[in-house]
Amino acid sequence: MNTEQPTASAFDLRPHLEFVKAHKDKFKAAIAELLTRKTQQEFAASIEVDAFNEYPQYQGSFITSLLTSMPESLVAFSDLEQVWSDKHIIVPEFSEDGNWTKKVENVSPESYPEDQYEVLVGYTSEKGDKIIQSVIPEHFTDDPEAIWIYQTHVFLHEFFHTIEVNKRTVEQRSAMRFSYKGQTFNFQEWLDEFEVLLLSGEEPESVSYYASVYKDKLNSTYKNQDAKGYTTALMEQICETFVAYQLNIISNPNAWTNFKEAANQKWTLMDKLCQAHPITNS
Ligand SMILES: [Zn+2]
Repeated sequence: MNTEQPTASAFDLRPHLEFVKAHKDKFKAAIAELLTRKTQQEFAASIEVDAFNEYPQYQGSFITSLLTSMPESLVAFSDLEQVWSDKHIIVPEFSEDGNWTKKVENVSPESYPEDQYEVLVGYTSEKGDKIIQSVIPEHFTDDPEAIWIYQTHVFLHEFFHTIEVNKRTVEQRSAMRFSYKGQTFNFQEWLDEFEVLLLSGEEPESVSYYASVYKDKLNSTYKNQDAKGYTTALMEQICETFVAYQLNIISNPNAWTNFKEAANQKWTLMDKLCQAHPITNS
């Protein structure tokens, strides 16, 4: 069976939005805390944030504020140049067997069916230079605040992709170097450590609803069958772990609300990467 692509249920946002709604105060406090960091003003000013003007769910100025609060270690290696959205809803296309074809369609809010709940809230270009975000249809939830909170989750997830999606060779990853507490490490070494932890099964292997979509692919059998699909599955786990680390909460099927307690080893690894200093030639 071809299980390479997530199926339609993976894009059903209702459980994610329900979780956010149930823990809204925690999410809002986490986002407010995140926005106090403001160490990356120069980087944030260099990123074009386009076409959000008529986008009431999620403001361009808010994205710029989020960018100022990203970790220095990741900003140094991010390929991001532009964040873009207009009033379209980005709808994933599915084949007859229900798997995502990796294609999307831009649909106007007026023509999106009232009885559907699948959206691709965001994606990153293959070069890592552009994040594209979707409108979330309003009938998905009765709480409009849950929508922008979930948009924030997706933006953070995509931000992590901008540091890695265009650097998937061992050479490229090894060239991304960091210092942390007097020691140096590179991104490949960090990924290897993360992979060992994930495969050990010592902690709940999926940190979120979205990460759990890929959990069947995180094993050595699948890695041997389809190395590229395996890398995708691994990176999705890591992007979700980055969101969980930044907010200390993420919509998840196990109903935990404190990431540091629920998955302390993953928290510790992500903390190491996010607190490290980048070693760059410039
Ligand atoms: Zn992703």
